[in-house]
Amino acid sequence: MTRIVFAVLLVASFGMFAWTVRRFARQLFSARPEDRTGNVAARIDSVVRFFFGQKKVVEKTSLPSKRLPRFVTWMGSKYHFIIFWGFLVITIGSVETLIQGLFPSFSLALVLGHTLADWLYTCIDVFCGLVLAIIGFAFFRRIVLQPRLIPMTRDAAAILSAIALLMLSYFGMRFASGTLVSVAWWTHVVILLAFLNYLLYSKHSHIIAALPNIYFRNLGQRGVLPKLNMEADDMAATGVVQGWKDFTWKSLLDGFACTECARCTNFCPAYNTGKPLSPMQVVHDLRDDLRFRMPDRGPLDVLLERFQHGESAADQAAEKDKPLIGGRTTEEVLWACTTCGACQEVCPVFIDQPEKILQMRQNLVLVQEKVPSDLARTFTNLERNGNPWGIGADKRMDWADGMKVPTLDDKPDAEYLLWVGCAGAFDDRIKKQTRALVDVMREGGVDFAVLGLEEGCSGDPARRSGNEMLYQMQAQQNVETMNTKKVKKVVTACPHCLHTIKNEYPQLGGNFEVRHHTQLIRELVASGKITIDGDKLAPAGGGNGGAPGKPAITFHDPCYLGRWNGEYDAPRDVLDALPSGAAGRVELPRNKEHGFCCGAGGGRMWMEEKIGTRVNHNRTDEILATGAETVATACPFCTIMIRDGVQDRNAGDRVQVLNVSELVAKSMKRKREIDGATATTPPSSS
Ligand code: SF4
Ligand code: SF4
Repeated sequence: MTRIVFAVLLVASFGMFAWTVRRFARQLFSARPEDRTGNVAARIDSVVRFFFGQKKVVEKTSLPSKRLPRFVTWMGSKYHFIIFWGFLVITIGSVETLIQGLFPSFSLALVLGHTLADWLYTCIDVFCGLVLAIIGFAFFRRIVLQPRLIPMTRDAAAILSAIALLMLSYFGMRFASGTLVSVAWWTHVVILLAFLNYLLYSKHSHIIAALPNIYFRNLGQRGVLPKLNMEADDMAATGVVQGWKDFTWKSLLDGFACTECARCTNFCPAYNTGKPLSPMQVVHDLRDDLRFRMPDRGPLDVLLERFQHGESAADQAAEKDKPLIGGRTTEEVLWACTTCGACQEVCPVFIDQPEKILQMRQNLVLVQEKVPSDLARTFTNLERNGNPWGIGADKRMDWADGMKVPTLDDKPDAEYLLWVGCAGAFDDRIKKQTRALVDVMREGGVDFAVLGLEEGCSGDPARRSGNEMLYQMQAQQNVETMNTKKVKKVVTACPHCLHTIKNEYPQLGGNFEVRHHTQLIRELVASGKITIDGDKLAPAGGGNGGAPGKPAITFHDPCYLGRWNGEYDAPRDVLDALPSGAAGRVELPRNKEHGFCCGAGGGRMWMEEKIGTRVNHNRTDEILATGAETVATACPFCTIMIRDGVQDRNAGDRVQVLNVSELVAKSMKRKREIDGATATTPPSSS
């Protein structure tokens, strides 16, 4: 009789689980298609390293917290590794328990032999103990320490309690006697089967969705927005997202794969400066939009949601009716993003949060026509003058006055097109960087020319602000010009132009070999084509270029050079070739993959920062704390933001903000002066 009851329970539970999986899968595949099947070997490699190896999980989990003890932050990154492996090992014991429900004489020893089975039981005992201890820590963390992003929700309480009961009942089965064993056994199997069916409706859906999400991750270039079809007759056909159905199935799977670890939000510059943006919540909003609008939504969904959120039926209905874009995910949230990519960098299951944010911005701009007024002005500047500064397009070559810089019309066979960018052409501070870059390229004998007045904005500000229509107009025009002039190689002054021209122009028929200027300069230095020496990097106020105990220089990573394009070494190699050397350079605490944004990306350069504190102040404080006399940049926007930060902190006499190209140009000049002085000094008459 017991066996029959158990068999019915087992079949019903697995039947219901299969129904739920099919139900969610059907929704996912009714969304937009996307091919993520190629390169099987690399996908399997990802699963081995990032799913079974938990590579990202054991790395940093969050920025050092002033509020939480260091041990807690450390545990936060490691304990999931133990839970994960504990879960895998314990699952073997759970399978044995379920089989024993049907065939009581079954045991692992029959399959593995007594020695191996005993060893495995010991492993399961140890892991059960560890998992139990970690569940205790998880309760402690949520209830006592209360990290802002990891609250004690009803869902979390249910899941943690269920896991704790599973472990305790396991120990009951192993070590109790008499009827207690039977009680423990039934407790164990009932919780196990209920847990299985609750999974997909809870934060623990990642137990099922994480593996496929890692397998189907983007293996191509990061940060390339899907192209909208702006020639379509109606907005729906352009591909702009309106609700969950317009995202790809992979974007929706992201929501189920989220482990709610909050790493993304912990590293987000907007969140860290008091903006309402939490990239984790953006991912959940999309998942909720799907769950609230499932066509076959029934009483079970309503019941579970009410249990999880404790809302009344009326509240739930209001929540359900909220539109995703501008409703569940508010406009303030969407405009706060700097598109820095810090969130996707740390996500252990490869969720692409910035893409979702940018796709929703496209909806705000193109469908709802809701654009912040300062950004609207920038769009007008771009439309009228071809640059966000709004300066007349006929002034685009003013930066080169007196330099005799050739255009491609003067020099059609030039090896490189130097892409100056709007900042380099129109902003007075950045024009100096462009001139320095030209000096360096000339000294290195680089054969280059510019487009001159035919260069237009690369389109980065428009695309990252959601204005795909304007972006495509600008980018298409540039692609046509460059193709007509048979451009093959491009060197850019700006990482945003680099990313757009290199990675996004191919969508419009523009295929060029594109490099950032620091990559070219590194090559010139390494090959000895330019010689740098002698400059002590003295700050404007007259410093000592790295006094004992004080670093001469630090480097701020631009997000679009580092995270989005993987180049961390080129600027550092060039800086280390300067007289101050590697020993004179100090890393910022948040560097490379975890570098902190300057606050200018994603169109934020042209938007007021009204909420919270300023992102550039946060970064500047970190720079000033190093004591470095020079902060080197490799992006015009970073230069402007950090210079403003330094001025706002009244630290202009302590630290200078210079582009790598300017430091090299200064050093080259100094070298020439030294060489000149040496050549003209008469031999001493001793
Ligand atoms: S891209 Fe940067 S600013 Fe935007 S959500 Fe991610 S971490 Fe935050
Ligand atoms: S999106 Fe990724 S990083 Fe953010 S909470 Fe989810 S799993 Fe963690």
